[in-house]
Amino acid sequence: MSADLTSAALTTTAALAAGGSVASWTDRYTHAVMDTFGPPQRVLVRGDGVWVWDADGRRYLDLLGGIAVNALGHAHPTLTAAISAQLGTLGHVSNFFASPTQIAAAEKLLEVARAPEGSRVFFTNSGTEALEAALKVTRRHSAGRRPRLLALEHAFHGRSLGALSLTYKAAYREPFEPLASQVEFLPFGDSAALRAAFETDGDQIAALVLEPVQGESGVHPLPAGYLALARELTTRHGALLVLDEVQSGMGRTGRWFAYQHEHLGGGIVPDVVTVAKGLGGGFPVGALIAFGPQVAGLLGRGQHGTTFGGNPVAGAAVLATIGVIERDGLLAHVGELGARLRARIAGLGHPLVHEVRGEGLLIGIELTAPVAAAVAARALTSGIIVNACTATTLRIAPPYVLTDADAELFVDLLAHLPATPEEL
Ligand SMILES: *Cc1c(COP(=O)(O)O)cnc(C)c1O
Repeated sequence: MSADLTSAALTTTAALAAGGSVASWTDRYTHAVMDTFGPPQRVLVRGDGVWVWDADGRRYLDLLGGIAVNALGHAHPTLTAAISAQLGTLGHVSNFFASPTQIAAAEKLLEVARAPEGSRVFFTNSGTEALEAALKVTRRHSAGRRPRLLALEHAFHGRSLGALSLTYKAAYREPFEPLASQVEFLPFGDSAALRAAFETDGDQIAALVLEPVQGESGVHPLPAGYLALARELTTRHGALLVLDEVQSGMGRTGRWFAYQHEHLGGGIVPDVVTVAKGLGGGFPVGALIAFGPQVAGLLGRGQHGTTFGGNPVAGAAVLATIGVIERDGLLAHVGELGARLRARIAGLGHPLVHEVRGEGLLIGIELTAPVAAAVAARALTSGIIVNACTATTLRIAPPYVLTDADAELFVDLLAHLPATPEEL
């Protein structure tokens, strides 16, 4: 390698970005990166707390947080220091070996999940892989005798062939059929339909997989009592209750896990919980938590594996993220700020806003017309990043370090939206 190429390879994003505008980077993107996401909305070069900057030097309030990932905001000093220190000490070892950060991160996850004695963690690199692990746990549990697998309409559980089996959206599924598993989708939050599904051949159900708060579908918390019923029926019929908290977990809703809210979970103990997104504060890491020795024992030696999963740097990221949330009292902050923000938005009484849903800082704003994309584009132009997760729903999932003053910028944007969809 020439000296020039060597230094180019060592160039930081910041230095690289100095050499290009959003437009030129976007052009290079379209010639090098596969077109599965469409053109990027902006090319971002730097972040600090709840703010990010694009390659043209424009600043944005980041209310999406990398889709519920950047729990501590961007470039958090504690997380940066923890990851850097670990990388500079021991970056990777494979799972033939273990590291103190991996072990301590697993212990910490079991602690915040209040998992009973005998519970265990399997680390992955993403939410999808956590769901894949959950499906393998489920296959072992069914042992060929329980062919039925239940999930909910509008569910999102990932895009690999296994996780995609559990994902509802036809446009995601159909081009890739046959998928790994046959799944029955039950109407969302419908207790009668849930009872009916267990009434006949309930003993053939291997697992029921649920998001306590559906994220991608537009932020829909399950109705009170539903999870308790799900626990009752799965226990009675010997099926596993798998809670996908990839988006709703790790403090996003103001509790470590959404099912820990009394009005959502009513004190249930699940069999499996999957987490990712916020788990490493932006470092790619996921996990499956198996509750109790029986479930934890379903994947024995040699039955699952990963090269990267739970590597020392990921462990450090998990410990630092959980540590800062605890040290800075962010769970309470997320719960309180989220409630105030939802009330502020609803209180605007804006004619375009039909409903405000959510829990903590996972918030869906249902509009009265299919103009969510237009509103999100308008927000971006005025320097605020939000997401149109459906045609009618805006979603925000900001960093937990958001302040009331930051949030007010978004309220102000909504307040000044035109009264009718035509004017957008
Ligand atoms: C994002 C998400 C996934 C997939 O996670 P990836 O890290 O994108 O693989 C799975 N389940 C839920 C509920 C999610 O929100």
